[in-house]
Amino acid sequence: MFVHTVCFLTEVFGPGDIVELRVMLKDGSIVAGRFTDLRKMAVVAQEIDTEWPEAAAVYFTINPIDPVAASRIGDFKANSVRSRVRTTRDRDVAQRTLYLLDFDPIRPAGVCATQGEKKAAYACLLRVRDYLRREGWPEPIVVDSGNGYHCYFQGDRCSPASPEWPRVLKYLDATFGSATVKVDTAVGNPARVSRLPGTMNRKGASTPDRPHRRSMVVEYPAQWAPLDHGKIYRLASRAGLIPTGGGSTGGHADMPELAENVEELLHEFFDEYQDNLDIAGEFEREGVKYFALRECPFAGRAHSGNLGKTCITLSERSVGFSCFSDDCADHTFQDLRHVLADVSGHASAIEFYVRPGDDEMIEEILALAEKVWGVTPDEMCPVDDPSRVLSAADVKRMIRGEA
Ligand SMILES: [Zn+2]
Repeated sequence: MFVHTVCFLTEVFGPGDIVELRVMLKDGSIVAGRFTDLRKMAVVAQEIDTEWPEAAAVYFTINPIDPVAASRIGDFKANSVRSRVRTTRDRDVAQRTLYLLDFDPIRPAGVCATQGEKKAAYACLLRVRDYLRREGWPEPIVVDSGNGYHCYFQGDRCSPASPEWPRVLKYLDATFGSATVKVDTAVGNPARVSRLPGTMNRKGASTPDRPHRRSMVVEYPAQWAPLDHGKIYRLASRAGLIPTGGGSTGGHADMPELAENVEELLHEFFDEYQDNLDIAGEFEREGVKYFALRECPFAGRAHSGNLGKTCITLSERSVGFSCFSDDCADHTFQDLRHVLADVSGHASAIEFYVRPGDDEMIEEILALAEKVWGVTPDEMCPVDDPSRVLSAADVKRMIRGEA
């Protein structure tokens, strides 16, 4: 099992790469450390996996950490793990070395998969791989994750903040996902961790039907070649904004399709500001979804009282902000975006894609901009160049009438 780990790590990472090893303990706490010596990392991972009864899962960051960020984080002690370490965030990642596709059988929460569920995940992987081969993609490394399957494509070490990759995941899930298997759409961000091959998957109790299994590499490609970003970009642009039908995301039958897309965008917004917004929970009341914030971004702390005092809301009509503190009564979602842009130092980069020549899509994008940004249609100017992929910046320019 050590051999699975060490071969995998040395195959996908190179000299000078800093990789985080992250161990989830059964009590929910984390021990982690950053490694430049991949052999040492494999040794430590195996030791933990076999000798720590409190270890639940062993993960690694699929992309290396920027050396400058690693030294800035400060608690960096090379090649060992400890508790209360600050784990890797998206902005700490230097470049893309891996793109992960995670084929996950849909099953009850907190248990391992049955053999049948795993088979369905593998069948889905084969369909996606055939499709991507036809698109000219290189061959992935295929890993049996214990409960499902992972495909790793080699990144071309481009900038990690590609907003196209999450689009690709959504497209693949919408097209190839089913009631039994999903292509996980939540694994697209740069600082993503994944189960380290060679370590055990110990979800829930091990039963004859749903046993704990070891994750291992089942296939290395004959030629391990990088996936150039152009292919990702093309697939993302072709995917358009709205996947039609299928997919495992489910959604709300009583909500129009557009509202589902707004929710998707809202989640991207949460991901973008994950360092500034701590979503403590969500609940639904009279058709409005509430995402409760642990702290009020305007106050810079939690208001006294119950959780749910400060919320981002999503209704069929709009995205909103509500805070029951008197000081915050007048603040809107637009104000919140400005505060987040100030404290994080970056404006929201939610991306909108449009199929070339698709006027309907332009209409929908403008409708989305209205919902998400709260601008009225007469504040928007007409779009005269639909033959390109639009970014959020484009939409903002359109809204301001500069396009
Ligand atoms: Zn407040």
